[in-house]
Amino acid sequence: MTTLLLVAALVAAVAVMGARRWRRERLRRAAQERAGARPETAFYIRSFDEMDEHLRKRWCSCGGFLELEGEGTRELDERRYRVARMRCHECDEIGEVYFDTTDLVQ
Ligand SMILES: [Zn+2]
Repeated sequence: MTTLLLVAALVAAVAVMGARRWRRERLRRAAQERAGARPETAFYIRSFDEMDEHLRKRWCSCGGFLELEGEGTRELDERRYRVARMRCHECDEIGEVYFDTTDLVQ
């Protein structure tokens, strides 16, 4: 009987851990599917004001507030991107947001 209880507790623990990992994985995948998360889905902008506008409206997939940590420029396949690094206040997740600035008037 004790063994059975032990096994049941173990199974429950493994199930909880698995569910947690699955949920985290799903959140991460969802974050990757969001507009702007990858160069292929970058926001096309014509001014940096539009970039600020997008970032103001962006929240973490957990619902937390995203803070701008830094910005950089990246060039891929002859296109120029502005990349914003965002950190979530709640879950500490760091995400990147891509903006296509190839046609941006400097
Ligand atoms: Zn978060």
